[in-house]
Amino acid sequence: MQFAGRLNNVETSAIRELFKLLGKPGIISFAGGFPDSAMFDVEGLKEASAKALAEEPGGALQYGATEGYNPLREQLAAFMGTKGVKGLNPEGLIVTTGSQQALDLLGKTLISPGDKVIVEGPTFLATIQCFRLYGAELISAPIDGNGVKTDELEKLIAEHRPKFVYLIPTFGNPSGGLLNLERRKKVLELAVKYQTLIVEDDPYGDLYFNEAPPPSILALSDSVPGSREWIAHCGSMSKVLSPGLRVGWMIAPAELLAKATMCKQFSDAHTSTFAQATAAQYLKAGRMPATLAHVRKVYAERALAMGEALRQELGDAIEFVQPQGGLFVWARLTGAGGKVKDGNEFARRAIEQGVAFVPGAPFFCANPDPATLRLSFATADVARIEEGVARLGKAL
Ligand code: PMP
Repeated sequence: MQFAGRLNNVETSAIRELFKLLGKPGIISFAGGFPDSAMFDVEGLKEASAKALAEEPGGALQYGATEGYNPLREQLAAFMGTKGVKGLNPEGLIVTTGSQQALDLLGKTLISPGDKVIVEGPTFLATIQCFRLYGAELISAPIDGNGVKTDELEKLIAEHRPKFVYLIPTFGNPSGGLLNLERRKKVLELAVKYQTLIVEDDPYGDLYFNEAPPPSILALSDSVPGSREWIAHCGSMSKVLSPGLRVGWMIAPAELLAKATMCKQFSDAHTSTFAQATAAQYLKAGRMPATLAHVRKVYAERALAMGEALRQELGDAIEFVQPQGGLFVWARLTGAGGKVKDGNEFARRAIEQGVAFVPGAPFFCANPDPATLRLSFATADVARIEEGVARLGKAL
């Protein structure tokens, strides 16, 4: 069959190949990017979906507006308000089929073949693939323990004049990292100085452990005159409530939102009205704060357990920053004591020992660091985490 030329820009992810091995019996997996199914608020969602059907069956089951179901847009605008985003009207956001669709719509509306887009090195793999599908030339901006290095970012923006910059500033996938407040402000200044759109992908920002992270780049845009019009922000219900609902949203300047809505219309017409009405009822019932408190507590315990176990079992053969939120530990093999230093080789040995994780190299769009790995602490309980990390120790 003759496929579209754009498919030459992408390949099946290396990670998918690894996932095939996860079916092996007894495997402890730190590989997925999933939240824990045991954490879903099933009762709350049952109630919300029943209410959605009882109160507005027409809205919940009929075709709907491409921009989204209005009661949900209202709830989401209010939800963003609780997170410091001031003055957001329901019309200032559209509902998307997961935040993944928001990324796709950004690709569709903004990227012409050969356009440059700056992303973090490392970044979310599906974003790399999605933007490449539209023909983007991706430029990798380095990160450190405080997120993307803004001095380097400025140099890259000045040199490449990208169509936009894509960042996951809060507990990124895979880095788990946190962009500090000073750098968030710097990013906003760069947006204004270079008239460059900043895409803030934020599916993990609510999953903090002890301290709330700095406000989102979008929320901070009030403090940098003229910056709000250069920010597109993607949010998601996936990591806190349920990825199966496929409810995400995008907040962006009106002109961009209009184009994205047009493209969405040709793509899926609208996000499932049933899912949207359920999410709206869920938020309206005021269940979110308790759900957030619960997931934060459980993931915090698991992150702590994984960090401690890694230090104990792998010692100086591994280095990582203890995550303050999100689902991931991003680590680097140091090779200390002549131990394995290659993430792929380590992943292969780990599978033999009955534990899986994802090597870090595929998360880089350029200059991959082969010593890196991503470990998710989300889906195994503390005992399984300790057992899994002990197996990693053996594999090492
Ligand atoms: N962005 C990032 C950084 C992610 O990690 C994910 C999910 N793994 C998504 C977007 C997409 O999430 P969803 O479409 O479920 O909202």
